[in-house]
Amino acid sequence: MTWGKLLQPDLVLGNSIVNLTADILEKYQIKGLVLDVDETLVPFTATNASPELSLWVEEIKPVVSLWLASNNLSQTRIGRIADSLNLPYITGAAKPSRRKLRKAVTAMNLPVEQVAMVGDRLFTDVLAGNRLGMFTILVEPMVDAGEAVRKYPVRSFEVWVSQALGASLKIKD
Ligand SMILES: [Mg+2]
Repeated sequence: MTWGKLLQPDLVLGNSIVNLTADILEKYQIKGLVLDVDETLVPFTATNASPELSLWVEEIKPVVSLWLASNNLSQTRIGRIADSLNLPYITGAAKPSRRKLRKAVTAMNLPVEQVAMVGDRLFTDVLAGNRLGMFTILVEPMVDAGEAVRKYPVRSFEVWVSQALGASLKIKD
């Protein structure tokens, strides 16, 4: 598989994760979601899930299996967020490595292509998901309200490289 294909999300949401609806998941026949945490679910500085995110989890939970998989090594921070959402989680996932992600997919007991890796980063979340044969969804980063104008140099660089390698990051619906 080429690098362009490995970095190609199956779906570019063009919005934050709370806009990922049950209808969209049904359309792509997705039965499970492995969710990145930092800047996918919460801003880097957040220690708690927002009420908006909690509501989204409550709405989506009856439709799909959910796991959190973070590269963050902080058991305390990620565990606290996962516990508040009542979701199983993995820290130190080392994405784009497949090893720990596979654990979440196996626990769901679903065909891998019916499980989506959802994240804000191409070189970790999307690459890991594609390497494992998962459906991959790229979301816009979750930011603090006061930080809306913040720039994402690493993310922007990844977008640029991925497009240069042939990935299309057009927003689909
Ligand atoms: Mg992230």
